[in-house]
Amino acid sequence: MQQAEGLTFEPDGSSEQGNCPDCGNTTMTVWGYVHRAGAAHAAYYARWTKGHLERGMQLLVSVGSWGEGTTGKMRCCFGVECRMMSDSPGFMLVDADSMPWLNYDMLGKPLSRTQALDHPSKVDVFAILDALVEKDERINCFLFSRTD
Ligand SMILES: [Zn+2]
Repeated sequence: MQQAEGLTFEPDGSSEQGNCPDCGNTTMTVWGYVHRAGAAHAAYYARWTKGHLERGMQLLVSVGSWGEGTTGKMRCCFGVECRMMSDSPGFMLVDADSMPWLNYDMLGKPLSRTQALDHPSKVDVFAILDALVEKDERINCFLFSRTD
């Protein structure tokens, strides 16, 4: 686990989502969990295509109550488009229902971009995103082109 600003990141599984029709490179999805002060706090998914940094990364972050006895009704999810700027990633909120990982029971209600912009958890989600791109090595490697 990787620590950042009271957040602990737990990278979990990954899967291949097929191949780019243009170049044949693999599209990847990875996911993981975020803990804060020892409690489950958020889950995230990220998708990208190897070799296509210019197409950025799509992310879903589900925040709220996690852990024993909780349900998707106690969480909501934010959709995020990430693009690399000159040397750091930029994040833009998008409609969460445009993302491929919708699951109300697990991830909670998908917020529209407008709902996300007004949501009290927005600051929290951006703090997670800022730390995530450093702390999940898989995501970090893609965005900062440290491997393929
Ligand atoms: Zn391609």
